[in-house]
Amino acid sequence: MKAMVVKAAQAPITLEERPKPKAGPGQVVIKVKACGVCHSDMAMQQGVFPFGKFPIVLGHEVAGVVDEVGPGVTWPKVGGSVGMPWLYDSCGHCDLCVRGDEIMCPEMTITGVNRDGGYQEYMLAPAAYVAPIPEGLDFAEAAPLMCAGLTVFNGIRVAGYKPGAKVAVMGLGGLGSLAVQYAKSLGARVAVLSTSPEKAKEAEKLGAEKFINTKKEDVVQALRAWDGGADIIVATAPNPEPMTQAFPGLAADGTLVVLGVGPGMITTSPMDLVGQRRKLMGSPSGSRHDLRDTLKFSLHNDVKPQIVKMKLEDAPKAHELMHGGKLVGRAVLIME
Ligand SMILES: [Zn+2]
Ligand SMILES: [Zn+2]
Repeated sequence: MKAMVVKAAQAPITLEERPKPKAGPGQVVIKVKACGVCHSDMAMQQGVFPFGKFPIVLGHEVAGVVDEVGPGVTWPKVGGSVGMPWLYDSCGHCDLCVRGDEIMCPEMTITGVNRDGGYQEYMLAPAAYVAPIPEGLDFAEAAPLMCAGLTVFNGIRVAGYKPGAKVAVMGLGGLGSLAVQYAKSLGARVAVLSTSPEKAKEAEKLGAEKFINTKKEDVVQALRAWDGGADIIVATAPNPEPMTQAFPGLAADGTLVVLGVGPGMITTSPMDLVGQRRKLMGSPSGSRHDLRDTLKFSLHNDVKPQIVKMKLEDAPKAHELMHGGKLVGRAVLIME
């Protein structure tokens, strides 16, 4: 089978012929149909994650079909449609795992970071950690929901979203366009904050009532002019500077939720926190129940990622386009 492999930090992504994996006890082999390309894949390739291992097959937005099940596996069944997200495995017995927060388990392993992921034709996965893909979602559209979709849907939830709240989405890339759709489907009023004025039309099309050009406008003033400020700011881009700038644009009891990890510091003053009881928090993608919720919600509310289909062998090109900011939508590798 074909696998796209990164042999060492900062090494290129190269095609390798590998033997098809065999499912061991508790494992399944997934025939990968589609795998989304995430910014974290690029970070991994560049050696940013201290817990990463090389050589590695990148990819944690996997959608495919169960091809083989190992000894002792009673679910899923061969032929079932399943996905694999960022969370590959966890200890299963710590307090966090037991309460359904395995995404924060200290023993967790990560798909495409320290376990081989979806940039290949077949991958191994622990049976207990695959997500069933509901009927009606196609593989190419389901793939980006495993990370991009899960991260924003769950981020909005954990930020304490209430129906009718004002949600400001920072950045209108892959995550941002999904965030606008989820927020609208949840009944929110939505604003988009972006440095690219040409995104205004897209924001409007997706249902945002307000577009703030952060290069031209004072973000705090613009947000406060929006009925007193945003109840939730969803920071989809990992750059901390715009978060620092926008934070005082939160309404009383508002929350800024950080979804991406980048270098630098987010700063705020005790005054901006205390006076209006504002909150600053982060959210890592999500656990298994969050992913199931994300997939079902996306299907029944017709939330769809914008995708650009590419061949498995074009993974390096997908990274190049993503790096240059030239992708309109999420690159999804399609295996024939
Ligand atoms: Zn990701
Ligand atoms: Zn655990």
